[in-house]
Amino acid sequence: MKYIKYILAAILLVVAVLGASLDFKVQKTEFMMDTVITAVAYGKNANSAINEVFDEIKRLDNLLNCHNANSEISKINYEASDHYVKTTDEVFALLKETVKLSQLTDGAFDITLKPVSELWGIGTDYPRVPDKSEIEAALLKTGYYNLELNEEEKSVHFKVPGMAIDLGAVAKGYAADRAVDILKENDVKNAVLDLGGNVAVIGKKPLKLFEAIKRGSFNKPFVIGIQNPDAPRGELIKTVTANEDIFVITSGSYERFFTENGVRYHHIIDPKTGMPAQSGLKSATVITKNGVLGDALSTAAFVIGEEKIKGISDLCLRVILTDSALNVTDIGKE
Ligand code: ADP
Ligand code: MG
Repeated sequence: MKYIKYILAAILLVVAVLGASLDFKVQKTEFMMDTVITAVAYGKNANSAINEVFDEIKRLDNLLNCHNANSEISKINYEASDHYVKTTDEVFALLKETVKLSQLTDGAFDITLKPVSELWGIGTDYPRVPDKSEIEAALLKTGYYNLELNEEEKSVHFKVPGMAIDLGAVAKGYAADRAVDILKENDVKNAVLDLGGNVAVIGKKPLKLFEAIKRGSFNKPFVIGIQNPDAPRGELIKTVTANEDIFVITSGSYERFFTENGVRYHHIIDPKTGMPAQSGLKSATVITKNGVLGDALSTAAFVIGEEKIKGISDLCLRVILTDSALNVTDIGKE
């Protein structure tokens, strides 16, 4: 009889060890790409793979950030008005892809808006409402169709002097793509990455032993929350259950904005007007199999709005829109 408590303790120890190994979880958070990035991954390679992911995101931030004077994009912006600028294969591929996405979204997504967004200065210490004439002049220096790409030379030239590019609307989606590649190369089977509203899901959430026994399964789908645009961070308006590997990417007007005379001016620009997009949406979430596609389409969906969403929703697995009255429209749900 007196051995019973030792036997029980031994059983508990085995259960605890098994429980821990089923749920070998690594989590890391860092501020990069001007946002909070969190990675959660499971399995024996999770730690080293996550470290590799964060190194890669840092590399991409240095490569793609147009606000970093030493990035490749800044070099293009300095020189491509004067002559063709040779790019890396990686940047050339991204430029080609973004031009294609501009065509697909009828120009709602356009990486050449920098001359306009600079006037607004959203995210800087000096945001302001520009004059109409300033916006009109800056709009003349935009247009993805004014980007000249030379396939053989892998080089780019601006047709209109003074143009400038900004990959801000796809950089996090591209980083999410690269992160997923790295995790998969490292044989990580279950992970969730959140790059400031750009979420990538791989596999399912492994369960602790007790929960696994209770549910009769070792895992369950990850559930991704969509932020309520009017509520404090963490309060959700909807959740998405990830039954396969997906990207859940949201663009919204609720995080980067300034207010002047009671009007809110946010950071997503309508390329047709040069003004912050006013499509009646507070956020647009798209679910895709690819991060760059998702990031570009979430921005474009926000610009285009619900009425004309069909062109975009046809390119996504699912689109979830939240309008200014917090009505949620869910298109394409299986
Ligand atoms: P976030 O970066 O907040 O996740 P987005 O992915 O929608 O949001 O990207 C917005 C950023 O992209 C802006 O900060 C600006 O740099 C740039 N941008 C703004 N409007 C557009 C647009 N219509 N098309 C492409 N890029 C845009
Ligand atoms: Mg985007």
